[in-house]
Amino acid sequence: MPARLFRSAKADRNRFIALYISMAIGLLVAAGLFVYEAKIIVADGLRDEEAFAVLGAANRVLHDLENAETGQRGYLLTGDEAYLVPYRQGIRDLDDTVLRLQQAAGSDEKSLELVRRVEHAKTDKVVELARTIELARSGNRAAAIQLVQTNEGKAYMDGLRQDLGELLNEWRERRKVATQDAHRRLVFGSAALVAIAVLVCCLMGYTVYVQRRAFARVHAYSNMLDQQAAQDTLTGLPNRRRLLSAIDALSGNEAESRRIALLYLDIDGFKKVNDAMGHSAGDVLLRRLAESLRAATRQSDTLARVGGDEFVLLATDCGDDAQLRELAERLVSGVRAIGDKEYGGRFAIGVSIGIATFPDRVQSIAGLLDVADAAMYAAKRSGRSTYSFGSSPAAGLSNVIKLTR
Ligand code: GH3
Ligand code: MG
Repeated sequence: MPARLFRSAKADRNRFIALYISMAIGLLVAAGLFVYEAKIIVADGLRDEEAFAVLGAANRVLHDLENAETGQRGYLLTGDEAYLVPYRQGIRDLDDTVLRLQQAAGSDEKSLELVRRVEHAKTDKVVELARTIELARSGNRAAAIQLVQTNEGKAYMDGLRQDLGELLNEWRERRKVATQDAHRRLVFGSAALVAIAVLVCCLMGYTVYVQRRAFARVHAYSNMLDQQAAQDTLTGLPNRRRLLSAIDALSGNEAESRRIALLYLDIDGFKKVNDAMGHSAGDVLLRRLAESLRAATRQSDTLARVGGDEFVLLATDCGDDAQLRELAERLVSGVRAIGDKEYGGRFAIGVSIGIATFPDRVQSIAGLLDVADAAMYAAKRSGRSTYSFGSSPAAGLSNVIKLTR
């Protein structure tokens, strides 16, 4: 792994650690806030229920007293015993209702004081009602009505209403505060939830982004490695490995392939340059030769360096033998020209070429390389700086055409 890729992976890892730690802290804070708000919302709900119970009980007290009073008034005015039913019902329920009010008011001092005053007024009112009823029942309705007209009972009811009103207002206000608080906290808790969701989304988005970037870098790096593995470092031409995979790819498509030629080239007299001028001079010559060969061939053909001073040209859709001869002659004279130009005729540089063609001389694309290699040796044997067509034994076609030096 190159240092740059390693550094970038390390930086990504550090960034991730920092990000995950801050995200974890953010999530914990947001979750903590949410739980805290939820608890208070529940408490607000309980306060609301409590206030609702106080309001209900207070209204009930008033309702029972009004029932009793309505019954009393009806009885005093008509003498009809039927009116005593709501009166008794109201009186009977009152003790229970006041007790419930007391319990609902809980331990709040101000409310308990108001409840105590309500209870006194209720007791006074009940006594006043009972007195009037007693008088009327004992046949003294006029005295009973007179007692009502003193407004004593009204004064008790006014006091009671005022205290109950205060109590109701107090608890209505509490209920409002609890509801508003619950509402505000609900908004805040929702914001905490949204923050959690946003944080998680950001984390996921960033993870995907970094992963994609890392994959792209690894992909580019592996492409570069592939490229390097298939390339000859000295000349920049494809190497033997790439040539073999190109042959493999063509073999997979043999049925549809047009005529293919493979030219195996070995430089003549190369070693002498190495021996006389050194290895680096030999390298320079190899580069020049590669450039010259590349210039003499089509871009669509594959020119590879497969060994020390050995090159292979794989020409798909190569045309007929006349065209191949013309190509081979061009390559031979190009190499000769390089030798003459670089060393002024001091070294006789040339090239021997073996040519194999598919499907006429060789029946399988995979067999082209061996046949062309053997043909190249035939060219060497027949005097160098020449080319030779080779064929697989079954094809029975073989000839060597020698060029004059
Ligand atoms: P022939 O005419 O029979 O082909 O002989 P030659 O002098 O061309 O030598 P031969 O093909 O037998 O051997 C090629 C030499 O190329 C052998 C090796 O020392 C040399 N060689 C191989 N790879 C490199 C390289 O990368 N750079 C240089 N400068 N020389 C290399
Ligand atoms: Mg050679």
